[in-house]
Amino acid sequence: MKTIGLLGGMSWESTEGYYRAINEGVKNALGGLHSARIALYSVDFEPIEKLQHEGDWDGTATILADAARRVQAAGADFLLIGTNTMHKVAPQIEQAIDIPLLHIADATAEALVQDGIKTVGLLGTAFTMEQDFYKGRLSENHGLNVQIPDEDDRQTVHRIIYEELCLGTIKPESKAEYLRIIDRLADRGAEAVILGCTEIGMLVSQEDTGVRLFDTTAIHARKAVEYAL
Ligand code: GLU
Repeated sequence: MKTIGLLGGMSWESTEGYYRAINEGVKNALGGLHSARIALYSVDFEPIEKLQHEGDWDGTATILADAARRVQAAGADFLLIGTNTMHKVAPQIEQAIDIPLLHIADATAEALVQDGIKTVGLLGTAFTMEQDFYKGRLSENHGLNVQIPDEDDRQTVHRIIYEELCLGTIKPESKAEYLRIIDRLADRGAEAVILGCTEIGMLVSQEDTGVRLFDTTAIHARKAVEYAL
């Protein structure tokens, strides 16, 4: 079994989900007392979030490249970055290490393509929904037609991520908002919706809606288990 490197803490609420999903995946595959070999480095998210919103992505890259080197030094055979948004600086992180990176957007796109989905809705931070590092990668590298919510709904989705989900706060009215926005994407032709932020699975799950959901935390963790084994 390979050792899974996990760059976590963005937010730690979602890293807890990764830790559980990866270990459950290894246990299901190997049985008995088997569990995953994980080298986890969990950052302090507050300064990173400040740099994101100031637009200082180079500053975030410096912090995460250093953290990734530590994960590699701890014996990881490959790396996961446990957030969709911070894949914005994936190229700088990859440059800092010699081990491979399993990109969350590629893992998600592969799952969608495998299931025959062509048009997909995307929920995530404004950075993820609006910028090419993620949305563009899905369409250019994987041929997906990506729909995002309109401006007001994007602001709602973004605000709930940073002001509630990253703090572990789950509100029924926020869940209702997300389900409304998911339905709107489906009405506009999305055959499925990507939960493109690693905390959204804490708020909505497949039982809440008839629209097919692709949870990036679950997909990324599953991919890591496959790769490790
Ligand atoms: N975990 C989130 C994501 O998957 C948002 C927090 C962050 O900005 O990293 O994008």
